Amino acid sequence: MELGIAGRTAIICAGSKGLGRGCALALAGEGVHVIIAARGAEALEAPAATIREAGGQATTIQADVTTDAGRAALLAACAEPDILVTNAGGPPPGEFSQFSLDDWRRAVEANMITPIALIGATIQGMMGRGFGRIINITSYSVKMPIASLELSNGARAGLTGAVAALARRSAPHNVTINNLLPGPFDTDRIRGNWARAAEVSGRSLDEVARDSVRSIPARRLGTTEEFGATCAFLCSTHAGFITGQNILLDGGAYPGTM
Ligand code: NAP
Repeated sequence: MELGIAGRTAIICAGSKGLGRGCALALAGEGVHVIIAARGAEALEAPAATIREAGGQATTIQADVTTDAGRAALLAACAEPDILVTNAGGPPPGEFSQFSLDDWRRAVEANMITPIALIGATIQGMMGRGFGRIINITSYSVKMPIASLELSNGARAGLTGAVAALARRSAPHNVTINNLLPGPFDTDRIRGNWARAAEVSGRSLDEVARDSVRSIPARRLGTTEEFGATCAFLCSTHAGFITGQNILLDGGAYPGTM
């Protein structure tokens, strides 16, 4: 399927690895010029090199997107994106009783305020130009709370509520906002979570990993290619009638009928 977005520009936050990288590669594969941000310079160059080798266009911005300075650097490189994919590292796991208010402030800053700031800085321009696609990478924790990830449950639910009405208000201008809710995907993040769970429970890493995969109806982790392809479709011209949605990609893990 021709997605109709060749020649567009996209900001991909936290795009050097994992789910963000999957989105960057998929969009670049559709002829989109991707501006990829992450903190680590070395890892940033890997997806950019892959994209350029395949004949695509990639620009890298070394920036911490959770800071004002990092977002300013990113927007200085691309003030008028057609596509914005918001993403950042997820908050650490832990116990509600042990989180400090500063832990909560950091989670809200990274996973709620940061996307809101980037959307605020770019959506008027998108509406004025008559095209825009905004994808927030959130988590299945929005639909189904994860006991050890209360910081994530809270901050991401806040973002989801914050953009729900805006997604309707921007729709007449062909600007859509949708949230992608990853379940368990094969990235560094999930492997780190498994390692911490093994440490806390005293079980082996293999056992934790096996039980985790067994709990997914698809009996496997999602791939970053699958995630990127979904993102690219939602950014396409064909997806202009889809807005304000929370789309689960979880191999069937969410147990509800709807
Ligand atoms: P990942 O493989 O660990 O990759 C994280 C990426 O984000 C890296 O490119 C990292 O690069 C970048 N990053 C982290 N903090 C950043 C910051 N402050 N500024 C700019 N870039 C930053 O993680 P992932 O699995 O793709 O997860 C992406 C998001 O989805 C996270 O919020 C995660 O909690 C959420 N999620 C993931 C899963 C899953 O199964 N993988 C499930 C549910 C939710 P640098 O470190 O170099 O900056």
